[in-house]
Amino acid sequence: MSFEALDLHPLILKAIQKSGYTAPTPIQKEAIPELISGADVIASAQTGTGKTAAFMLPALHHLAEPSKNSGRGPRVLVLTPTRELADQVSNAARNYGKYLSRINVVSILGGMPYPLQNRLLSQAVDILVATPGRLIDHIQRGRINFSRLQMLVLDEADRMLDMGFIADVEQIASATPASKQTVMFSATLNGAIEKIAARLLKSPKRIQVASQKERLNNIEQRLHYVDNLSHKNKLLDYMLRDEALKQAIVFTATKRDADLLADNLYASGHTAAALHGDMNQRERNRTLNKLRKGGLRVLVATDVAARGIDVSDITHVINFDLPKFAEDYVHRIGRTGRAGANGIAVSFATNKDSIHLKRIERFTGHSIVSHIVPGLEPSFKPSQRPKGFKKPATPAHQKRKKAPTAYGKRQEFNPEFKRFSRTSRSSSNKSNLRTKH
Ligand code: AMP
Repeated sequence: MSFEALDLHPLILKAIQKSGYTAPTPIQKEAIPELISGADVIASAQTGTGKTAAFMLPALHHLAEPSKNSGRGPRVLVLTPTRELADQVSNAARNYGKYLSRINVVSILGGMPYPLQNRLLSQAVDILVATPGRLIDHIQRGRINFSRLQMLVLDEADRMLDMGFIADVEQIASATPASKQTVMFSATLNGAIEKIAARLLKSPKRIQVASQKERLNNIEQRLHYVDNLSHKNKLLDYMLRDEALKQAIVFTATKRDADLLADNLYASGHTAAALHGDMNQRERNRTLNKLRKGGLRVLVATDVAARGIDVSDITHVINFDLPKFAEDYVHRIGRTGRAGANGIAVSFATNKDSIHLKRIERFTGHSIVSHIVPGLEPSFKPSQRPKGFKKPATPAHQKRKKAPTAYGKRQEFNPEFKRFSRTSRSSSNKSNLRTKH
């Protein structure tokens, strides 16, 4: 199927052609006709499937017709969980709408100055892309008139739910006209998401594209068992020497670990920087722009900050620490293998990570093959649990309280992380990360 067959406005087709897209992705093929027809849609699609264009192209198609209502308020509102995803959506809107006349795209994000946002909101707005918290502030101050709103898009609704934004999302939705079209994208369609959809959407068309397994086909997933932090650092060093690695995102469990690792890599001569939620928006944008322009080879990030990063030269994702949730694993590794390219996702796992690994493998439907670098073998033999294995229940009187770890409360205490946080500032630890060039 071609984009022409989707009946999109010719000036949108021109922009698509300019972007080098030859055919719509499966989610685009299914969602675009429904959204052009005006139906509400609930779609399960991961990042990397072309979901942004799946809602943005029909949104722009509607905007090509002048509004039937007078006023200056937004005609399309996109809510996203993070600022990075909002930036990606705004950029996509500007790119796909660049040949249509006067499409004004405004981003209203937390962490940006209010006076600038007030000025932006005082103009006629076509597409408003916002994170929920900040938008509520502006709504409460009476700065937004939704009388022209034709389409509401809830992007990564499951993530907004996880981050506690759903009450805000529902409040925003209730401030918009009942006549609008509502679109909900979510990586997973679980019970909680279905309930929200039942409240916000009108007889929605349901769209579900490729399973996790199919979607990750262009990403080679590798597992390296590691003994301890020093072993992780040596393996990371080995991987960063690979010339096939153009750009990499290295994921750590905490913001502090991201800073420490980035500092150490930088001190060892790598063009490396950290990206996490404690950085202000300007610092995050600066780092992301540097990554996009190729000025950074290694980005050390936490899960929240890495959402929405869309850089085609990222050849490797390295899970220095495994993610807390299996969904995050999919989001993380989806930072590589963008737009049809191939990618490599490497995960480091200690002997205590086997439950985590099983959860990830169950979620993706893919078993991760373990690799060994000669000379950097783990000293332990990874435990092979037979299928269906269940740890016998511990009698109540023998149960001990478990200490929290870098992976969250559910994990057993892992002395490795404690050691890392306590000593990684020391020069002896830095030397573990040092790379010779
Ligand atoms: P998304 O799932 O929206 O994060 O998009 C992932 C990547 O796919 C982005 O880099 C888009 O530019 C790219 N993309 C979207 N639609 C297409 C298409 N039809 N053909 C090729 N690449 C696409």
